[in-house]
Amino acid sequence: MENCIFCKIARGEIPAEVVWKDEHVLVFKDIHPATPKHFLAIPLEHIPTVNDADANNAAILGRLFVAAAETAKKFGFAESGYRCVVNCNRDAGQELFHLHMHIMAGKKFGWPPG
Ligand code: AMP
Ligand code: ZN
Repeated sequence: MENCIFCKIARGEIPAEVVWKDEHVLVFKDIHPATPKHFLAIPLEHIPTVNDADANNAAILGRLFVAAAETAKKFGFAESGYRCVVNCNRDAGQELFHLHMHIMAGKKFGWPPG
C-alpha cells in the first residue's frame, strides 16, 4: 500500500475532481491549473517515474494516451490541440513520484519549451 498522494486519489481516500476513468487509468483536474484546461492522467498502479517503464507496464502506460484522447474529446479540445507532458525527475521538475501525464489545453503553446 503506497503512501503516495496519487495512490490515495486512486483509492478514493483523498478527493479529486475525476473526469474520466477506466480499470487502469484515472484522469482528474490539476489542483493548481497552469493552463486554462489542465488535467492529470495517472495509472492506478504506482509507477514512480518514466525510468520505471518496462515491458510489464507498457500497456498500462499506453493507456495514458487513450485517456488523453478521451479527455480531449470530452472537453472539446481534440481538434484545437493540447499538450501531453510527463516530467521525469529533477531536471524536468517532477514533484510527485507517481508517474502522471499532464493534459494541458486552452491556449496556444510555444515550442520549444523554455
Ligand atoms: P509534476 O511537477 O509533474 O510532478 O506535477 C505535479 C502536479 O500535481 C502539479 O501540477 C500539481 O498542481 C498537481 N497536484 C498536486 N497535488 C494534487 C492534488 N491533490 N490533486 C490534483 N493535482 C495535484
Ligand atoms: Zn502512487
